[in-house]
Amino acid sequence: MSSSRVCFDEPPRARRIHANWSAERDMQLAALWAEGFTASEIARRMDTSKNAVIGRVHRLRLPKRNSPLHRPKKPAPPTIWTFHNIGFDQCRFPDGDPKDKEFHLCGEPVIEGKPYCATHCDLAYHNPVRIGERFKLDNLGLHIK
Ligand SMILES: [Zn+2]
Repeated sequence: MSSSRVCFDEPPRARRIHANWSAERDMQLAALWAEGFTASEIARRMDTSKNAVIGRVHRLRLPKRNSPLHRPKKPAPPTIWTFHNIGFDQCRFPDGDPKDKEFHLCGEPVIEGKPYCATHCDLAYHNPVRIGERFKLDNLGLHIK
């Protein structure tokens, strides 16, 4: 062990902070990044700090990832459909009392040629358009001739 040519002058702590980014390490970083590893996992594997990884990723302009490891964004609150924002191809079946603050329109995609979605077409017309509806209406005690 006396004739080792490798010299570790730098204390390990300093090495961890000032990561030495060789072309080889850059490639390793890019590969791990592309595979979807988190910055902290890459840091662990490459024996450097998470901040160094993030800084280098930024410096190398590595593409943002669609990784399942990323925390998912908060789902957007459901859109309240009103006569002001609803589209022509959306169901305008009213839900609730128009005088009520909670009042809104259905907003589901309409059946072609109809003003409402499948559910509300059935409700509005009591006109079963699909085979499955016969069963549903039978269960409700309604009989179709
Ligand atoms: Zn509807």
